Amino acid sequence: MTDLVVRNLTRSFPSGGGVFDISLSVRSGDFVVLLGPSGCGKTTLLRLIAGLEFPDSGEIQIGGANASADKTRRESIAMVFQNFALYPHMNLFQNIAFPLKLRHVAREEIERRVKESAAKAGLAVDLKRYPHELSGGERQRVALARALVREPEIILMDEALASLDAQLRSSLRLELKEFQRRTGRTFLYVTHDQVEALALADMLVVMREGRVEQLGRPQEIFDCPQSEFVAAFVGSPPMNFLLAESAPNRESLMVEGIDLKVKAPEVCPAKIKLGIRPNNLTLERGEGRVPIDVAVESVEFSGATYVVHAKLGNTPIVAELSRRVKADEHLILYLDTARVYLFDPSTGLRVA
Ligand code: ATP
Repeated sequence: MTDLVVRNLTRSFPSGGGVFDISLSVRSGDFVVLLGPSGCGKTTLLRLIAGLEFPDSGEIQIGGANASADKTRRESIAMVFQNFALYPHMNLFQNIAFPLKLRHVAREEIERRVKESAAKAGLAVDLKRYPHELSGGERQRVALARALVREPEIILMDEALASLDAQLRSSLRLELKEFQRRTGRTFLYVTHDQVEALALADMLVVMREGRVEQLGRPQEIFDCPQSEFVAAFVGSPPMNFLLAESAPNRESLMVEGIDLKVKAPEVCPAKIKLGIRPNNLTLERGEGRVPIDVAVESVEFSGATYVVHAKLGNTPIVAELSRRVKADEHLILYLDTARVYLFDPSTGLRVA
C-alpha cells in the first residue's frame, strides 16, 4: 500500500504562476486525473510529486514517509512525459532499459524486465528498432514500458496521449484504464481534456490558477459542480449560463422577461446565473418541464446527437437534441427545471 498525501503544497514562480496550498490524498490503486486549463499548475504539481521540482512550503508523503526527507520513496514513482522524451540514438530496448542501467541492474535481470514491461505496455514491435521508426501510439507504449520497468507503484503521466489522433487516444485510454485495474498501480494523470478526464478518473481534481477548485468522483463533479468555473469546464457541449432575475412574485426566475418557472432561492441576489446543461433541453414535454421558445440559428451533427445553437430573446443557448431540427426556425424546447444550477455572478459560487 503506497498512499500519496500532499499537504499545503506551495511552489510559486517569479512569473506569478505555480501551485498554492494544494492538499490531496490519493489512495493506493486510484486513477487520479488533474484537470484544468493551460497554465493552471498541473505539470508543476506533477513535477513536485516526482521530485523534479521543490516546494517552497508544504509536504509530500509517499507510503506514510516524508518524500523529501526519504529520497528512496521517489523510487516508487515513474513519470511519462507529454513528448515521451525517448532517446533518439538508442533503440527501443536501450530506451526501456535505461532506468535499470542507471541503477546497475544485472544484465539478465534487465533482459527479463524489459521484455516483461514491453509486453505489459502492449508493445508488439521489434525492440531493435529506433524511436523515429515508430508511430505515435507505439512511441507512447515505449514510454510507458520505460516507466514500468522500474516496477513503480505510482505512475505520473503528463498529457501523455495529447499528441495522438482521436481514435488512437480513445483506444489507448481504454487500455490504460484496463492496465491500471489489472495491476492496481496508482496513476496521476494530467490533462486539459475533460472527456478524457471523465473517462479515466476514479478521482478528478479540477485545478484553477494554481489551486484545487473542486475534487471528487467524476459523476459527483459533473452532477454537483460547486462553481461556475467547474460547471463550465466539465461537460460537453459546455453548460449554458443565462443571467436571470427574480420574477415580480419573487418565487421564480426570469430570463429576458420570460418566467422559466425555476424556483428562486430564498436569498436571491439581484442577478443570478442559471446553468443549464444542453442535454437538459429536450423536444419532449414532461412533468416539471417548462416550454421555452427559441430561434434556431444553426445545427451541428455530432454523430449521436444534434447540437443546436439558438437564441432565447437575445441570449445564446445551446441544446443537445436526439433528432434534427431546421435552422432559421422557432422551436419549443422543454427545460427540466429540476436540473438547473444557480450561481452567484459576484462570487462564481453555486447557490444552494
Ligand atoms: P499546460 O496545460 O499548458 O501544460 P499546466 O497547467 O501544466 O499548463 P504549469 O506548466 O504547471 O501549467 O505552469 C503553471 C504556471 O507556472 C504557468 O503560469 C507557467 O508559466 C508557470 N511556470 C511553470 N514552470 C515555471 C518555471 N520553471 N519558471 C517560471 N514559471 C513557471
